[in-house]
Amino acid sequence: MKTIKVAKGLSFPVRQPALAVRKVSPPRRLVYPTGNRWGWLYPEVKEGDAVGAGQVIASSSLPYVPSLKTAISGTVREIIKLPTLQLREGQAIVIEAAEDVSSVSQSVSIGEDASPVEVFKAIMDAGIWEVDDYALPLHLRVAAPEVIEEYIKESGESEFVESLRNIPYRDRAIETLIVNALDRQPQSWVRSHIFASDSDRIVAGVRLLQRLSGAKQTIVAVPSHLADSESTKKVMDALKAEVAVSNGKYPASLEPILILALTGKEMVFPSKNSRECGVAVVDVMALEQLVKAVLESNEDREVTVQVNLSGRREYHLLKCPVGTPVLHIIDHLALNPDSLTKVVLGGDFLGYAHYDLDVPITGEVDVLSLWDTEIFHYKHDPCIRCGFCVRVCPMNLVPAEISMCCEYNRFEEAVGKGIYQCIECGLCSYVCPSHRPMVQLIRHGKQELERAREVS
Ligand code: SF4
Ligand code: SF4
Repeated sequence: MKTIKVAKGLSFPVRQPALAVRKVSPPRRLVYPTGNRWGWLYPEVKEGDAVGAGQVIASSSLPYVPSLKTAISGTVREIIKLPTLQLREGQAIVIEAAEDVSSVSQSVSIGEDASPVEVFKAIMDAGIWEVDDYALPLHLRVAAPEVIEEYIKESGESEFVESLRNIPYRDRAIETLIVNALDRQPQSWVRSHIFASDSDRIVAGVRLLQRLSGAKQTIVAVPSHLADSESTKKVMDALKAEVAVSNGKYPASLEPILILALTGKEMVFPSKNSRECGVAVVDVMALEQLVKAVLESNEDREVTVQVNLSGRREYHLLKCPVGTPVLHIIDHLALNPDSLTKVVLGGDFLGYAHYDLDVPITGEVDVLSLWDTEIFHYKHDPCIRCGFCVRVCPMNLVPAEISMCCEYNRFEEAVGKGIYQCIECGLCSYVCPSHRPMVQLIRHGKQELERAREVS
């Protein structure tokens, strides 16, 4: 077994509690955001429309943006303004469940022996949203060049096909497929739980992706506590895959760090397209969604989310449909929403603090942190040049300087100092004795640069 060595970063004590997954009672109202990290979708329904489970309710003409399907049958109640996960302005389609939710799924599953181009189409059709910040959605990140070419040939001319031709590094072969079972951040155990409890689906999903990519090498990255587990042995034997074990340092699980540690290849920023270095990373949460949607024709779109009551060190693993509003989770846990002091979607290190409890759990969310204890409102002090942030930064940046450029609106200078290389792991802010909000300033800087690009 290989060891995943991360030179910088930080080690956190592993205090993994024994957690059983509990199912959340399905909400009557599901909320579907019409934007994700790859772009915007346009609603294909309007208020008052009846919809059936598995129906596409919003889509885009761009191949980067997976379409959106409803998991339940019901009625489109309203289309509301709602911030995206990354706190950009956005909108969402609200569906109210029908009394009789037994309508038949519209999706068609493929067999385990489907051809690569059938697998490509099925994954594209399933519209899988992923947790990590990948440059391309799953089908485009993994497919071999000849599979994309075959799909283009058989699809005829259209705006959609034309945009497929322009996928960056479309002609680059995928040599290595990395299956990521490492938990994303400290106090998060969703991926290791899925890997340990659903290894049959992991194997079935990886087999599909091996066929789709034509990759010669498959590496499965597992946390150290699962190195000798039954699931690791099963996956290793069934897939003839190499296994790599993390040395426990955060952020080993994030794509650029994992690719560098396992293959020695560096991703290019800001495009961050792993096709460029012939590698595709897929996490086990996406694999579970993929197998349910593509092989099992299961449109319930349930996801596993970890809910941390961070101030109390209490943790829950819950299964709920994509689109479940955070308020429904709060009710399920019998918490008083008025007593919450902070709500963070995506976990305490990698997430975003939200103010609207209508924001839903989607495939982009692995951890929801709820705080109902007093939280500190730090007033940050000037940088004292201690260098702690430089010592931990896994991307070898000088976070103090980049964040200062962003604080004083010197965004172009921040580009020269590597703002786009920042993977927003949050470690610089975590260690700073002056409590400087570095990752928040860097995110603000990236948004301002994006806004300036859109205007010009
Ligand atoms: S600058 Fe970015 S990559 Fe470096 S420690 Fe801070 S958040 Fe992480
Ligand atoms: S850790 Fe904080 S105080 Fe120390 S150099 Fe970095 S920004 Fe400055």
